[in-house]
Amino acid sequence: VRIFAKRALLPNGWASNVTIDVAGATIAQVAAERDARSATEFVGTLVPGMPNLHSHAFQRAMAGHGERRASGRDDFWSWREAMYALALELGPVELHRIALATYRAMLRAGYTAVAEFHYIHRDPRGEWYADKCAASEALVCAAREAGIAICLLPALYSQAAPDGTPLGERQRRFATSAEDVLEIAAALRSRFAGDESVVVGACGHSLRAVTLRGFATLLEGSPRNCPVHVHVAEQEREVAEVEAAFGARPVELLVRSFDVNERWCLVHATQTTEAELASIAGSGAVAGLCPTTEANLGDGLFGLEAYLEAGGALGIGSDSNVSISPPEELRLLEYGQRLLHRRRILGAAGGRACGEALYALSAAGGARACGLRAGAIAPGLRADLVELPSGDDLEGAVVERTSAPQADPLDRYLFADVRAAPARVMAGGAWRA
Ligand SMILES: [Zn+2]
Repeated sequence: VRIFAKRALLPNGWASNVTIDVAGATIAQVAAERDARSATEFVGTLVPGMPNLHSHAFQRAMAGHGERRASGRDDFWSWREAMYALALELGPVELHRIALATYRAMLRAGYTAVAEFHYIHRDPRGEWYADKCAASEALVCAAREAGIAICLLPALYSQAAPDGTPLGERQRRFATSAEDVLEIAAALRSRFAGDESVVVGACGHSLRAVTLRGFATLLEGSPRNCPVHVHVAEQEREVAEVEAAFGARPVELLVRSFDVNERWCLVHATQTTEAELASIAGSGAVAGLCPTTEANLGDGLFGLEAYLEAGGALGIGSDSNVSISPPEELRLLEYGQRLLHRRRILGAAGGRACGEALYALSAAGGARACGLRAGAIAPGLRADLVELPSGDDLEGAVVERTSAPQADPLDRYLFADVRAAPARVMAGGAWRA
């Protein structure tokens, strides 16, 4: 297949009249300033597909249900009770059905890969299914059916609080030892061996829910190159609990205890000091930001400006799936900073347009967090491509005002075309939406 794009975002920036040769699931060749004659497919403006580096697919089933304030104080912790009630109801069949619909919605929105952070391992009574991988496999099968690449992250979840409090009754389906998780991960790797759209990572739920020893055992038993994910510092109470138990804040503790490096994805690095942000940036780890969920739960704002100044890597995730939209995540990320600092941060320095900088950074960081060769339009990477909406109404406005320079296509996509879905989405070399 040879695709001809009028404009495409390549690693060095925008290029015109670009041909992209796709062989199987991979981009074979990219060339700019070509003519369209040899092409088989014609598109307008093309950008890389966006990896979604943090999802709990099952939570899509409660999207829109948690918006009524139940008690005096409604926050992450009261929301979590509602989430537990849902988690207790779903078997592998329901998980598969919800995940399939959710992954299809992700593709329509321009996500071309998903890191599924999965912790419902046992049956509703808290016993293992005859096949320990039953729930994990339901999610991988849903992703394959939808056509989205998946990094499945079977989570280690072994205690209720950093002081070693045992799991509660309502957490019985999550209970795993490092050995359980290693067994599930190894079985999944062998069942899906040869499918490059399936990656299996190593995952500790959070520093609340794992012991340092258990997490270390999991990491030692996992392949050296696999992605490592952990919820790191979502809540102030979580930071206080970790500090009380270990005398260190979560990011400090993590960096002190493990070789945190570019394989790591630290999800919700929300409650972090500037020193912690600098240490994440210096480690090469990807900060996993989930602006719509973090806003929905009232978590707080990530220290984006300090983090980008320190050269940090980042990506975005739809997390609770209350919203499934890359532009909405990125717009909220940027707007949160502008409201916080009462000035424009403009994503990143370097003279690039804000939308382009945020989008390209998130695509590259997200691909790394998913363990996929993806996240840009370049030879050798997965053919994950998004054709931006044509934005005809805005074109009209520009024609009226002929002296205005054309808006950067990604600035328009993220900030002005807020309701427009991508025109087409290719994942792994096939048009999926
Ligand atoms: Zn999460």
